[in-house]
Amino acid sequence: MDLSIILTYRCNSKCSMCYIWKHPTNPGYEVDLNTLDKLPDGFDYINLTGGEPTLRKDLEEICDLLYPKAKQLEISTNGLKVDKIIPIIKKHPDIKIRISLEGMGLTNDLIRGEKNGFEIKCEGMKKLIEAGGRDLGFATTFQDENIDEIVDIFKYTSNLNVEMATSALHNAFQFHKNDNYIYERKRVAKKVEELIIEMLRSNQPKNWFRAYLNLGLIRKILGQDRLHACTQGTDSIFIDPWGDVYACNVRNDLLMGNLHEQTWQEVYYGKKAEEIRKLVAVCPQNCWMVSSAKTSMRSRIYYKIPKLKVMYWVLLNKIKVSLNRHIKFESYIDYNNIIDDRQINHRISYLNKTIKKELQPEKSVNYKQLNSYFNR
Ligand code: SF4
Repeated sequence: MDLSIILTYRCNSKCSMCYIWKHPTNPGYEVDLNTLDKLPDGFDYINLTGGEPTLRKDLEEICDLLYPKAKQLEISTNGLKVDKIIPIIKKHPDIKIRISLEGMGLTNDLIRGEKNGFEIKCEGMKKLIEAGGRDLGFATTFQDENIDEIVDIFKYTSNLNVEMATSALHNAFQFHKNDNYIYERKRVAKKVEELIIEMLRSNQPKNWFRAYLNLGLIRKILGQDRLHACTQGTDSIFIDPWGDVYACNVRNDLLMGNLHEQTWQEVYYGKKAEEIRKLVAVCPQNCWMVSSAKTSMRSRIYYKIPKLKVMYWVLLNKIKVSLNRHIKFESYIDYNNIIDDRQINHRISYLNKTIKKELQPEKSVNYKQLNSYFNR
């Protein structure tokens, strides 16, 4: 199974689609090495995320501890502090690194509130390549503001010989905002079709399966049902900075237990976990984030191979693209069925909960300065 560990809710970006940066955690209360040591061996995949994981002073020790516990370890980062990752990559070159990149140049900087973010990330990626990183890439969230650049991002990543991970703008309780919404949904979805074709043209089989994942994102963008049922809570789980274990990071009612107070076995095999899995089975959110999409695309018989339906789609459309034939997207996507899926109407604050009351007060943001930067 897969595991995502949110190491911190501190962040040095100021993204427009996620306000974690306005609500930083107190470093003294963030999940520590002793608690993480309670995790068993044998995970398929562990993703260290945030907030911004490079803000953790003990990131290298965390990687050393968790590296043997998973077949693959990932650090999801904004790439602004790559120097913190270089020694880790030198030690473990196969750790997967994904740097968030929302556009080519200024588009990235505006969406993510990062001064010179694009240049810093590109430089950082080059340093990681030089350091010997073997599984490097960028990660992009499709939204109205960057959709015209996604094919350029893919070409850029391909030229660098690194990967491009994708997701679509969505809401989640941890973002501290509920108004993430794609407005020109059909236009955005049609642009994703262009990326799918480019990915199928590539010589990398990984990109062919990413093309399928992007097909699922089109359905998400249009508010339609998932291509495969969500199995969060079973195949993939989130741990937050306070050690709380959630089935996913979208719904805060899917709390399975706490790793400070319980063992992993008590959390994962407990009664509460069973109840939560029943809620996941009927969850109406229809998310298609990498964590839940990737696991649901896997065969139930043998996790290393994809489901037959996925394999069939990939092979059929790879052949079509190779023969310069048109992909019949209309067979998979009903563009007349655009559903308003704004289902999270009220984010419940966790400021009142005892274990989480140590959140630091919101840092004052100089909006005047930020706006002048955005309008430069
Ligand atoms: S579909 Fe439901 S359970 Fe699955 S990730 Fe989304 S909110 Fe969580």
